[in-house]
Amino acid sequence: MLTHGLERTVRYLRERGVRITPQRQAILEYLDQTDSHPTAETIHKWLSSRMKGISLATVYNILHLYRDLGIVMELSYGDMSSRYDGNFVNHYHITCRDCGGVFDYHRDLVDGIEERAERDTGFKDVIHRVEFVGVCPGCQTEKKGAN
Ligand code: ZN
Ligand code: MN
Repeated sequence: MLTHGLERTVRYLRERGVRITPQRQAILEYLDQTDSHPTAETIHKWLSSRMKGISLATVYNILHLYRDLGIVMELSYGDMSSRYDGNFVNHYHITCRDCGGVFDYHRDLVDGIEERAERDTGFKDVIHRVEFVGVCPGCQTEKKGAN
């Protein structure tokens, strides 16, 4: 989902002089209707079935534009493809080490930790990241079924 919904996000982009091309509109729609944290490749595959001739590079460019404008979050996983999240309100993610699925985990675990880190270190604009990794319920069921 998009943090502020599709219409408000489009308005916000227009106010910043961003031209909303059909490709840009389609990617916003896609991000608004999913909580699956897609990779650029996933979005490209889906988009290619609706529009002819859109390149993966174009999808990356659009996602990076949205990231730089602060309307999507890029989740990086070392060497693996980044995933994109239209919800930029601070929340955690939990990743399945079997299927690679990335799920939201909304919970305020460490309230006030940024302020504390700023006090301790003299840094400013501190954010924190926490990564959870495990085996998702779906993969647990599959494993049981295989036995
Ligand atoms: Zn899984
Ligand atoms: Mn998320």
